Amino acid sequence: MVRENEIRAGEVAIDLPPATDGGLIFIGRIRTPWTSRMLAPRQGRADGPVCRIEIFAPWVPALEGLGRYARIEVIYWLHLSRRDLVRQSPANDGSVRGTFSLRSPVRPNPLGTSIATLVAIEGDTVLVRGLDCLDGTPLLDLKPDRTLFTPVAPPRRGDFETEAPPADG
Ligand code: SAM
Repeated sequence: MVRENEIRAGEVAIDLPPATDGGLIFIGRIRTPWTSRMLAPRQGRADGPVCRIEIFAPWVPALEGLGRYARIEVIYWLHLSRRDLVRQSPANDGSVRGTFSLRSPVRPNPLGTSIATLVAIEGDTVLVRGLDCLDGTPLLDLKPDRTLFTPVAPPRRGDFETEAPPADG
């Protein structure tokens, strides 16, 4: 039987070190049609269903200007994931790969990212297509798609240099 948090043949778990508080702030909640990890797509699709990203009240002003981008990067916390596997068997066939060579939700810090198509912004709600997370997944951040974004701040030296600068002192 396929389960959701099982260890599969060949997989390797470690004893998790104590969590240090990175100070993450959940800034909203993502509403999607998927209530089970077994039903969610493995990666979002541009023609997937419209999902609702609900922004918590203090962060709503931070949406200003986002509407000018056709695609946005959505960063979320895959809150139901186990976090202790260093080798995983996505195909569940005994073959394994290192966690950092995968986009599996199982990772030390279960960040999920999707490039989503912006459909609309309605008050405190951002409507997008292209997500793959469960209903109720906590939202960490929204950013313009980097391929559409030009920095607003003026360029700085490091933007033009290809070599590392000399060490200070
Ligand atoms: N697109 C993201 C990425 O590449 O970083 C996430 C990809 S991950 C393979 C997507 C899968 O994570 C879904 O198919 C589902 O099985 C699982 N998942 C979705 N929401 C989750 C949540 N809140 N907690 C744990 N697992 C979740």
